Amino acid sequence: MALLLKNARCVDPSVQLDAQRDILIRDGVIVETGQCGTVKLPKGTAVDLAGKVLVPGLFDMHVHLREPGYEYKEDIASGGAAAAKGGFAAVLAMPNTKPVCDSGPRVSFLLEKAREVTATRVYAAGALSVGLAGEALAEIGDMTAAGAVAFTDDGRGVQSDGMMRRAMDYTRTFGKPVLSHCQVESLVGSGVANEGVASTRLGLAGWPAAGEEMQIARDIALCELTGCPLHIQHITTAAGVELVKAAKSRGLPVSCEVTPHHLFLSEDDLDCTYNTNLKMNPPLRTAADAQALRAALVAGDIDCIATDHAPHAAHEKALEFELAPFGTTGLETALGLVLTELVATGQMDLSTLVERMSHAPRRILNLPPVQLAAGSSADLTVIDLELPWQVEADGFVSKSANSAFIGRQLKGRATDVYVAGYASLKKGELVGESC
Ligand SMILES: [Zn+2]
Repeated sequence: MALLLKNARCVDPSVQLDAQRDILIRDGVIVETGQCGTVKLPKGTAVDLAGKVLVPGLFDMHVHLREPGYEYKEDIASGGAAAAKGGFAAVLAMPNTKPVCDSGPRVSFLLEKAREVTATRVYAAGALSVGLAGEALAEIGDMTAAGAVAFTDDGRGVQSDGMMRRAMDYTRTFGKPVLSHCQVESLVGSGVANEGVASTRLGLAGWPAAGEEMQIARDIALCELTGCPLHIQHITTAAGVELVKAAKSRGLPVSCEVTPHHLFLSEDDLDCTYNTNLKMNPPLRTAADAQALRAALVAGDIDCIATDHAPHAAHEKALEFELAPFGTTGLETALGLVLTELVATGQMDLSTLVERMSHAPRRILNLPPVQLAAGSSADLTVIDLELPWQVEADGFVSKSANSAFIGRQLKGRATDVYVAGYASLKKGELVGESC
């Protein structure tokens, strides 16, 4: 059986494409692309996507699926469904589960379970250190053999410089990148909000920008020392971006990601309601930082958008600001936010969106590219640019509703997602999910 996707505006900068095309898929692979009306469908299904945009499937390289251990917040099935609903064909799962994903069998569990319960492609990031304790190297070789594509202690910075050096030395030998959550614990302490105006105004313990930037600088130095590819996670400050930019200009294999919440919110959004959905790690920074992040994303100094999708149960976020857990969900709102805030406003074109949300994550993780061209896996996202919608607490597929963007009016969202030619989302409805 074949599938013919007709009449969409197809956007893929990797093949210099932004035009209406028909795309023929067979056995999960794109076999032909051509001018509308010229591609023959001998036997199979045709789907008319006139008025829609078709792009290589979006990839979120920073999500917390919470399984095993915290299934009341999210599990692989519900997280996979949230990804599809948000337009993502693939995600990279962080290892801070319970138990921590720090051995080959735990990587295998994640990947095998994901194949059973979700149509979304799930990739595994293994822990750098046993139990994320930052003390002993995890079984990086074993996890690589089981299919892990990157290594990170996300949720914590690796505090010991020597330990981080050993981790990068060792990871490099397997050809995998180290993803770094940068946080100097002796500086950040119990900080919960950006140290500055917001923390002072609200009487909250400060989380200083230096607590992030110092570790970015250290990890860049260790990248230079070890040669291990380094990816800075959820970068939040203009100064942090300058460090990454300088490292790249010296030819170092350094990349970085930014989250939608650090792009489109700032510490100014924290008010006397003490909305715990705005409690992030790292925290929301200044409005000037957010503006610099948007400019750096458009310019390419920031390589990609990743959501840091961090589901938490309502009873956990209902605590006082100091006690509530860090994080916001992100899978279901990221695309709509980028379309509304950057594309519709003319700051970013669709080709750049595809580069930052589809191509760059796969490249950073050394995964095969997905292109709108014959021979590529048919992992595709279909977008309706005009669809207006509002982010609502009861509108999520995720098990958790701790979104920092509840109430936002957005324009544009994914309507269809294909993974290896099979729909995980069809006309806005989930399909193929067993949850
Ligand atoms: Zn993190």
